[in-house]
Amino acid sequence: MDGTTGLEEADSGQGSAMTKWVYGFGGGQAEGGAEMKALLGGKGANLAEMSALGLPVPPGFTITTEVCTFFNEKGGSYPEGLDAEVAAALAAVETETGASFGDPDNPLLVSVRSGARASMPGMMDTVLNLGLNDKTVEGLAKQSGDARFAYDSYRRFIQMFGDVVMGVDHHVFEEILELHKEDRSVTLDTELSAEDWQAVIKDYKAKIIEEAGESFPQEPMKQVWASISAVFRSWSNVRAATYRRLHNIPDDWGTAVNVQAMVFGNMGEDCATGVAFTRDPSTGANLFYGEYLVNAQGEDVVAGIRTPQHLTLAGKQANHSKLPAMEEVMPEVFGQLDEVRQKLEQHYRDMQDIEFTVQRGTLYMLQTRNGKRTASAALKIACDMVAEGLITEAEAVARIDPASLDQLLHPTLDPAAQRRTIARGLPASPGAASGRIVFSADAAEQQAGSGETVILCRVETSPEDIHGMHAAKGILTTRGGMTSHAAVVARGMGRPCVAGAGELRIDYKTGTMRVRDVVLNEGDLVTLDGATGEVMAGEVPTIEPELSGDFAKIMGWADEVRRLGVRANADTPEDCRIALQFGAEGVGLCRTEHMFFDANRILAVREMILAESPQGRRKALDRILPMQRQDFAEIFEIMQGQPVTIRLLDPPLHEFLPHEEAEMAEVAAAAGASVDHMRQRVIKLSEVNPMLGHRGCRLGITYPEIYEMQARAIFEAAAHAMMECAAAVVPEIMVPLIAIEKELDLLKALIDRTAEEVMKAEGVTIPYIVGTMIELPRAALTADRIARAAEFFSFGTNDLTQTAYGLSRDDAGNFLPAYEERGIIETDPFISIDRDGVGELVRIGVERGRATRPEIKLGICGEHGGDPASVTFCHKVGLDYVSCSPYRVPIARLAAAQAALAEQDSTLTTGAAGTA
Ligand code: ADP
Ligand code: MG
Ligand code: MG
Repeated sequence: MDGTTGLEEADSGQGSAMTKWVYGFGGGQAEGGAEMKALLGGKGANLAEMSALGLPVPPGFTITTEVCTFFNEKGGSYPEGLDAEVAAALAAVETETGASFGDPDNPLLVSVRSGARASMPGMMDTVLNLGLNDKTVEGLAKQSGDARFAYDSYRRFIQMFGDVVMGVDHHVFEEILELHKEDRSVTLDTELSAEDWQAVIKDYKAKIIEEAGESFPQEPMKQVWASISAVFRSWSNVRAATYRRLHNIPDDWGTAVNVQAMVFGNMGEDCATGVAFTRDPSTGANLFYGEYLVNAQGEDVVAGIRTPQHLTLAGKQANHSKLPAMEEVMPEVFGQLDEVRQKLEQHYRDMQDIEFTVQRGTLYMLQTRNGKRTASAALKIACDMVAEGLITEAEAVARIDPASLDQLLHPTLDPAAQRRTIARGLPASPGAASGRIVFSADAAEQQAGSGETVILCRVETSPEDIHGMHAAKGILTTRGGMTSHAAVVARGMGRPCVAGAGELRIDYKTGTMRVRDVVLNEGDLVTLDGATGEVMAGEVPTIEPELSGDFAKIMGWADEVRRLGVRANADTPEDCRIALQFGAEGVGLCRTEHMFFDANRILAVREMILAESPQGRRKALDRILPMQRQDFAEIFEIMQGQPVTIRLLDPPLHEFLPHEEAEMAEVAAAAGASVDHMRQRVIKLSEVNPMLGHRGCRLGITYPEIYEMQARAIFEAAAHAMMECAAAVVPEIMVPLIAIEKELDLLKALIDRTAEEVMKAEGVTIPYIVGTMIELPRAALTADRIARAAEFFSFGTNDLTQTAYGLSRDDAGNFLPAYEERGIIETDPFISIDRDGVGELVRIGVERGRATRPEIKLGICGEHGGDPASVTFCHKVGLDYVSCSPYRVPIARLAAAQAALAEQDSTLTTGAAGTA
């Protein structure tokens, strides 16, 4: 078939005889292959591939996804020529099997199976045993010599067809079956005789007429077409549509339909059916891993009606099973299956998830696909396959889904431990933590200060809680979504967070948290699992993450190929240590505000802000300077010559203001002013729209003493580290929220002046550079001018997203989910960079910045720095580095490597779809 002509024909409208709609497979041959997943779906493409490989696949054919699209667009009609193609393909199956459709003596039976491009387990429908009717069932009985089996198969077919095609609910049939079993005083299906099944069938048919107003069709061709239509329709069912939305599968992909000759695993004791993985999907160990049932059909294994048995002796022993393994019961067939396993791995060069059936001692393969696996199994399998010579190091790197590494980078709950789940919220930030309940940020800080591990439990959090979030081991909120303040900040800090656990009621007054009849008090132990959203009463032991073994090996290979640098957003010495451990090459963003919120400092900070004169401010700042200097000195020492980008004070002033009477009195006393006077100052400084207000470099312009003090602290700390600790130091001073080049000119002059003073006083030369965040559209657009003063840019894509969209991140939770649901946006722009808008601003900033200053250093420090898709974008747009939270550094390293690999080799598919 000429593919080009086919496409032209399809474009011309109706499609025609020239478009190939049906692809056959079987008998060691196939018209399709594994590379045709888009057209044949994963199941169809791999059935073709296995058949061409000479594996025992029952013959059949695949109707393409293009037919599904046609069917859905044209109100359930089919393209011209499909009829004839299906008839021809069916005839080929008849020839291959020697049976014929509707033949009462030797009936061909088929399954009609769904199968989309991406696996959508259990979302769409499949009908088995098609072709049976009142006559052919007798043929099957004679042929198999087992009437019981034949009538059981027939009733299964009526049941599936009635459910999937005729819309008669599955439990209606179950009820009938139950009645018959009661009647016969038996508990197992297998105890019913052929006559019993005949009676069941009679009732099934009557029920179908009653419920559907139509009788069950006897004509096999009618059965086939009705089933094909039902499978195409199942693409649009609510279940499947929801699944696609959750997994970003486009609606227009469509499903293929596979029609395949039936084989029976339920014809007796020499028959079986099973599923298996070619390696252990949870550990990655190179062991055959699977389950099977003797005398059973397809779905029985997963349906949970009977306890499945292990494939191998090793599996049986490891799971302390008493039931015999397939290796024992059917050693010969097991041997064949093991050979198939080797062949599939050699061929696909990846771990496979397979379905098989044994009919009277003969093995048949019914499905294969790349198996889903845990993150640690993915790493082990990739490394082992490199060692086995199956794949290259580059392929190993390309195969790991960077996002899945998250599973390995946080403490996790010991799987062996008991857990008592009391509520569930959103899995807002991964990792697990146990600690004592506190209900305020101050209490969190206080208790953490005295060595307690605490979990901060709030209805919701705000910027004022940052110090408490820092001090806490985990964060729980009862309100808010995945982009709420708590969620975003917790992810940034690498704190486990369960957000929006709405069943829980927090009462700050009484210091209690309750759900149903469970009441927890301040000081009680709770455990959070931020990966699942579970909230548990009591303490559950955790396991620490580690970058070693296979994980370290893959990261090493990734580092060899990536071009992008990877730094960390690290505010504290502790953050810096973790960042280095995970391979960060510097600090891309050290925020200084938490240093101001510290309980010992906030009073001086408030005094400084509320002071009315520069002198008043200086007095307070003089008290902060030594503390701030100490912060930086420690960070420089830890980072040992790696670049450290320090951002000068950024948040709106009002966040530091005292709110409660007692706090105001305290500040007033310290400043020697009246409480009333303080209250007036607070009112004067409060803002309508702080996010767009008096913040960032605007603070530096209006209160130059603040930035001067910070610059001094940085340079004195640098001098100290150079002299006392012999540490190489490369401070990069970053001015936030620049919109106008003049702002930076002024502030750079201030910083340079301070640097000179310190260097003169200390008698050292400190290498430093001054740059800016690009986080306002105006800054991106005028980057050529700003680059005259700026020696580096760091794209602050959190604020850039807020300002490009005119959208506040803290309020987005109320409507962004609806936008995603209705397809107005594909993904939350705060999680993955919006390439068309925000990304375009970045591109413009890069281009214009480099035009003025070709050697300008370019990085990104928004949340996006740890998002794999955004990292790819950063690579493409030509940034020098990305910076992300310490825990996401390995994710960024891997994503950066994959971006580089994809550029070198466009045939390499990255981010293995096979990770669970
Ligand atoms: P799913 O995608 O939900 O697994 P499948 O199309 O794979 O649906 O089929 C459901 C079950 O029926 C599987 O266990 C499969 O192995 C079995 N099955 C499908 N087609 C046949 C066939 N032609 N002969 C025997 N068993 C089959
Ligand atoms: Mg299947
Ligand atoms: Mg910002």
